[in-house]
Amino acid sequence: MATHLVVLSGPSGVGKSSVIQAALKEMPQTWLSVSATTRQPRPGEVDGVNYFYVTNEAFDQMISEGNLLEWAEFAGNRYGTPRTPVEEKLAQDVPVLLEIELQGAKQVRKSMPDAVLVFLTPPSWNDLESRLEGRGTETPEEVAIRLAVAQHELDSADFFDYSITNDDVARAATELVSFLK
Ligand code: 5GP
Repeated sequence: MATHLVVLSGPSGVGKSSVIQAALKEMPQTWLSVSATTRQPRPGEVDGVNYFYVTNEAFDQMISEGNLLEWAEFAGNRYGTPRTPVEEKLAQDVPVLLEIELQGAKQVRKSMPDAVLVFLTPPSWNDLESRLEGRGTETPEEVAIRLAVAQHELDSADFFDYSITNDDVARAATELVSFLK
């Protein structure tokens, strides 16, 4: 039986959220997991929609109680996938999409070997740099950290089952949907 669990990873700024939003329009029955994070909300982000914004203590507790399917530290903050909702949706045969970074994807590969791991890659390094700098949601120091991590993530693209180039959001979304079906 197919598990219908798809992981989308890719460097910060590559456009994962835009591709996911377009994919959800094409396939609205997909359930997108909402992660817990210790980072501060960006302007416009909503608790319970974009993330569950939690304290370091609450995050520690989620780890110690085994409530996270995977978690990782990324650019100074922690991020994790609440386990129960994912398991419930999969049990109901609902396609599940996780948007997580490389270390988390590696943990999912171990704990859920049937998951399909997809990597979203930028058309070019310059494109990634200008997108990350242009969106203006991080300080120059944070951008520099994210670009350093991005280099490492791009070097790890071979780890994933499939790679999608984000040269066109609609086309990339259609490719992503093909893995959810
Ligand atoms: P951002 O701060 O830009 O929202 O997210 C930073 C990175 O953390 C992105 O690569 C994003 O995919 C990843 N991320 C978001 N939620 C999770 C999660 O639950 N687990 C892991 N491992 N990474 C996550």
